[in-house]
Amino acid sequence: MAYATTNPYTNETLATFPLIGDEEMERALATAQETFEGWRAKSFDQRKEVVKRAAQILRERPEDFAKLPTLEMGKLYRESMDEVELAASILDYYAENAEEFLAPETVDTELPDAGRAVVVSDPIGILFGVQPWNFPYYQLARIAGPNLMAGNVVMVKHAEIVPQSAAAFERLMHEAGAPEGAYTNVYANKEQVARAIKDPRVKGVALTGSEGAGSSVASNAGEELKKSTLELGGSDALIVLADADLDMTVDRALWGRLNNAGQSCVASKRIIVVEDVADEFLRRFHEGVAQLKPGDPFDPETTLPPLSSQSAADNIDALVDEAVENGASVTTPGDPVPEEGAFVQPRILTGVTKDNPVHDKEFFGPVALFFRARDEEEAVRIANDSSFGLGGSVFTEDADHGMDVARRIDTGMVFVNHPTWTSPDLPFGGTKRSGYGHELSAAGIQEFVNKKLIKVM
Ligand code: NAP
Repeated sequence: MAYATTNPYTNETLATFPLIGDEEMERALATAQETFEGWRAKSFDQRKEVVKRAAQILRERPEDFAKLPTLEMGKLYRESMDEVELAASILDYYAENAEEFLAPETVDTELPDAGRAVVVSDPIGILFGVQPWNFPYYQLARIAGPNLMAGNVVMVKHAEIVPQSAAAFERLMHEAGAPEGAYTNVYANKEQVARAIKDPRVKGVALTGSEGAGSSVASNAGEELKKSTLELGGSDALIVLADADLDMTVDRALWGRLNNAGQSCVASKRIIVVEDVADEFLRRFHEGVAQLKPGDPFDPETTLPPLSSQSAADNIDALVDEAVENGASVTTPGDPVPEEGAFVQPRILTGVTKDNPVHDKEFFGPVALFFRARDEEEAVRIANDSSFGLGGSVFTEDADHGMDVARRIDTGMVFVNHPTWTSPDLPFGGTKRSGYGHELSAAGIQEFVNKKLIKVM
């Protein structure tokens, strides 16, 4: 295992970074623990100063930050710029709202002579984060913002393909005034992560990643009776009902499937269209995909960048082959993508049946699974026929009816007339094999605090 920057547009490895040594890891944990004692004692205003300053720095120099994900994992540069702003808005949001979210709550008890009961929210200590490459800053802001404001300290093992983005975020925090140990990036391997999770100084684990990583990290935490949150993969359904505005729906479905080159947990990976409009939808969707322009992710003209790495590209190609070998049909809109670089040909798969081994796999790239449904009833059934339960969406002119359909979908998030997306003030999280717990919003800051009851008689 090696931390390295490899530009997926050229597949050239530009820099490698040594793993943290065991002694250094021990020092990092000791420093974080010592810093926690001081950090927890600071007022919300003192912590706010640091977290707000970090947001401000991101906004002062977005280019410095944005170029790294584009270089390391091929994100379109304009999407990297959007991500820097999103990360800043998350930090700001928690800086502004944490004190209110964590304010002591008086509990009304109706018993005679009940006295006074108050629930306070205490920080718990070191939160260990294990994070994925697909949104290198947004993911870090999602745990750093709430936890630093809550008085916890954060240690993060980022994905091995984004080491420079990981280091940039740590530098950001230090530049913003976070004391050493308040936010620590570690280039750790899986054994070191497992040991850190078991270390008594670490009090909780927040993992975002695949099912396999989630299961392994949650087992380590569970053995030590520590809390974890798991933000895992998804295969979101995008349901199109007969009365949907097709122009808007196709535009948004294209975005939902293809933003971040299709490498988003809440991408619209399964598109389910009712019979009445299926042909027309498919024709327009196909046309939209055919217009993608592959190229250098730094070039503003490019709309289809490479995937994050050659192995990610190979994985998705293998998944398409597996789908087809097991009975699915594939259509290939557009011209062939470049042979050099981690490009993946966008494709549309139809006829993926329940017994196809890819049915419950996550297509993390520009490949859409298309399903034709007899009617709304069948569309909801297909949507729920998945081991995942992250997000989803329903497109209809009748928003109230859209709400009713949304209630019948077994996922953590459903949007009406837009693919599931994210904002600092909306809770983010899944159910089923997409994990448990929440990030963002008021809910995200409650995950790793001790809700302590104080009773005065
Ligand atoms: P991944 O391979 O599971 O890796 C995620 C992180 O976990 C990386 O830092 C990885 O390190 C680490 N990891 C993997 N196995 C581990 C283990 N056994 N012990 C400790 N750490 C381990 O996922 P990915 O390919 O980076 O990210 C894509 C996945 O994340 C997709 O499934 C996507 O849907 C999901 N995701 C979910 C959300 C959400 O909010 N629900 C958001 C974004 C992404 P290495 O890089 O060193 O392997």
